[in-house]
Amino acid sequence: MPLFDPTAFRREFSCFSSSDMLGIYLDNAATTQLPDEVVQTLVSYYQQGRSNVHRSSSLLANQVTIAFEQARTTVAAWLGADTEQLIWTSGSTDGLNRIASGLTGQFQENQAIIVSALEHHANLIPWQQVCQQNNLQLLIIPTTEAGDLDLTQFEYLLNTHSVALVACCHVANSLGTHNNVALISKLSHQYGALCVIDGAQAVAHLDVDIKQLDCDAYVFSGHKMYAPTGIGALIGRIDFLERLTPTRFGGEMVREVGYYNASYRELPYRLEPGTPNIDGALALAQAVTFIRRWHAGRHDYEQNLLNYTIAQLAAIDGVKLVATPLQQCAVIAFEVIDVHPFDITSWLNEQQIAIRCGYHCAMPITKALTRYGSIRVSLASYNTQSDIDLFIQTLQQAIDINR
Ligand code: PLP
Repeated sequence: MPLFDPTAFRREFSCFSSSDMLGIYLDNAATTQLPDEVVQTLVSYYQQGRSNVHRSSSLLANQVTIAFEQARTTVAAWLGADTEQLIWTSGSTDGLNRIASGLTGQFQENQAIIVSALEHHANLIPWQQVCQQNNLQLLIIPTTEAGDLDLTQFEYLLNTHSVALVACCHVANSLGTHNNVALISKLSHQYGALCVIDGAQAVAHLDVDIKQLDCDAYVFSGHKMYAPTGIGALIGRIDFLERLTPTRFGGEMVREVGYYNASYRELPYRLEPGTPNIDGALALAQAVTFIRRWHAGRHDYEQNLLNYTIAQLAAIDGVKLVATPLQQCAVIAFEVIDVHPFDITSWLNEQQIAIRCGYHCAMPITKALTRYGSIRVSLASYNTQSDIDLFIQTLQQAIDINR
């Protein structure tokens, strides 16, 4: 009996049988679908009467506060962190921006920040801003021809500049490159730099242990790991989080407030002003429970499906894979020679195959490697070999029509 049963996993998502718009869904890097138990968590929160957290002491308010803090513990523990290391955010973009602006004033003019050539705009533009505003140099880790990061060049950059911080994705949303972020973090620290990891495309697919990675901060978005939109987390080492200056202010984060001054609470509350996304946090914790329950064999299943998809694509005349990284996770980018990506995806979308083309919010790397942007297939554990077969068959039709 196989360890992981994708059909049974898929049955946990009734949207696949109830929606007449979903079709074959291969755009999981953009967002994943929700399993029923996560939807039910949202429904229950509202059906049982809702409350704010950390304020009132009514029976309901106490219960909601306990559940909300338990959600923090569940999500933090899943990634090998302690409860107070987790700051709720609205997603990866929010987490990265909060880090970048929370560190303002802590860099010196002659220093540099390193990002990789593979970054999503969310892990590029905030650092462009920091560099422009503080007169720092922004340095880029280049890729090899295969689409891996060139870590020799990375070490050279560290060696030849005074680097304050390195920001890098765990898995690249443009090419699927699975970066060795434990090594990137180790090298950053060896050269005295902080290390921030963008885990947006990793947490749904890989076992992440923040202690093992030993980075200073790790961010991710719930909606890319079977949880709702508008919730995510920033997990950091306590000494790193202590360095972040609050950039937003209001209720809950404070200890004492006078008309002219305020003092702030301990972590994580110091960085969480205002009413949090309570239902989002509860649902994210439920998504973690769901993912943990389906752990056995799931990663191998996804990797086999990825390899199968790559082999099928590579066998099509006219298809060119944009990259062939040594370690690849869940995402494949390709072009069809002499056909615009939009013409291909339009046909696929008309046939109810959800797949995306363009620059995927990673414009510098996609422009460097493709003519008009790439076509991207991105997998989740509910995708099956028959999804891939239908996609490949329809892709072949699209190519035939457009040539
Ligand atoms: N980082 C990566 C690698 C991503 O793929 C994405 C979204 O696609 C983001 C950051 C931004 O995530 P969000 O839009 O959920 O904030």
